Amino acid sequence: MTVQTGARLLEGAPIAGEIRSRVATDVAEFAATHGRPPALAVVVCGRSAPSMVYLERILKACASVGIDSRFVDVPGDDAATLGAGLAAAVRELSADPAVSGIIVQMPLPAGINLRVVVDEIDPLKDIDGIHPLNAGLLRLGYEGFVPATAHAALEMLERSGATIPGSEAVVIGRSPVVGMPVAFMLAKASATVTVCHSRTRDLAAHTRRADIVVAAAGRPGLVTGDMLKPGAVVIDVGINVLDGKLVGDVDFESARAVASAITPVPGGVGPLTNALLLAHLVRAAQRQAAERPAAAARKPLARSTPTEPADPAERQGAADPDGAP
Ligand code: NAD
Repeated sequence: MTVQTGARLLEGAPIAGEIRSRVATDVAEFAATHGRPPALAVVVCGRSAPSMVYLERILKACASVGIDSRFVDVPGDDAATLGAGLAAAVRELSADPAVSGIIVQMPLPAGINLRVVVDEIDPLKDIDGIHPLNAGLLRLGYEGFVPATAHAALEMLERSGATIPGSEAVVIGRSPVVGMPVAFMLAKASATVTVCHSRTRDLAAHTRRADIVVAAAGRPGLVTGDMLKPGAVVIDVGINVLDGKLVGDVDFESARAVASAITPVPGGVGPLTNALLLAHLVRAAQRQAAERPAAAARKPLARSTPTEPADPAERQGAADPDGAP
């Protein structure tokens, strides 16, 4: 008789720690060579508490590995002013040789299109992979910057011991920052990929035949244990606040009884996302130094710090491709 002991927990912190310590070494090497550390610029446009928490965690993580950071708060009360300010800020940071990478708070305030950022961001500084050049490189299977969350989901899967080639993988969510990049990366890794979304008729019919389920819908409790194939590997990317607590998209207890491995929320994909973003930043700095050596030798970054209070949630997303909920 087989005794079900519950799925293995795929925790992000140990892997994130490993990545951060490699990043710290690379940062020190970069600083020794170029006379300054790599520098991140974080742009905030119309503050939302959950994303401020996410961004503040990234700034702290930067400090912990010796990465310089700059916080740019775009002023304005209406979409037109904020949009123009955002475009100008991203343009200026893209042109500043002291800045190695840029991330912009997502989701953007109502009335401001992601296009504002996409049109202005330097693809070599686009460490979260939103520029069409990077999105296109991913789509074509070449190396560029991929969204850190999608990278974290794949890294977690690879380290889970799951056999990706030939597996049936179901991705829930089709956003340009999470669902679709994960789907492209899984297809590149030779999984057979199904992308489910808000208009999918029978989600459970898809998830029940999946060896790998990646949930990125932003809907607490969307995936329950009875929707999973026994032994499936479950990566929960969702971050939701339910009754004041952080939860994912997967009903953890029921899923854990059926899956072979599962990421917790919090503590799974989130910490890994932050660590990989730092790794992307260092790679951006190295690429710029190699491709634009004159610019890389210039002045260090001026410092500034965020002031907004914290809130127990984090989110970095963008609109669904077709605007579906
Ligand atoms: P989004 O709102 O842009 O996209 C959500 C997607 O889920 C859409 O494609 C939608 O069609 C789909 N969806 C919604 N309801 C559904 C349902 N009932 N059934 C099937 N599909 C459904 O969100 P996003 O930016 O892609 O983020 C997704 C989730 O991942 C959110 O919870 C977000 O907070 C989280 N997130 C986590 C990290 C991290 O580091 N762990 C980073 C970014 C986003």
